[in-house]
Amino acid sequence: MNDVAGTCPRCEEHSMMVPLEVNALSRTTRGIVDTPVWVCSDCGMDEGLEDAFHTGTTEQTEWPMMRTFDYFIKETNVQTARLMNEVDNV
Ligand SMILES: [Zn+2]
Repeated sequence: MNDVAGTCPRCEEHSMMVPLEVNALSRTTRGIVDTPVWVCSDCGMDEGLEDAFHTGTTEQTEWPMMRTFDYFIKETNVQTARLMNEVDNV
């Protein structure tokens, strides 16, 4: 593992994966004139949930931030991991 890509600019918690394109493209930078900003997959999910259940994604001026749906995302990740294990054990 190298961490050339550094830390997620949104949460400053997770390392970014290499190449950057495998991370989530932040919903704050999806305009044609925006400079693409990549965030970790948890933050990508968080932005999706903010978009769906809140008034929209948290702007970059508020970064770094706590994920709005951090608890929910962690639960989802645990459940996904469990599901993967069950599939492996079949
Ligand atoms: Zn992040």
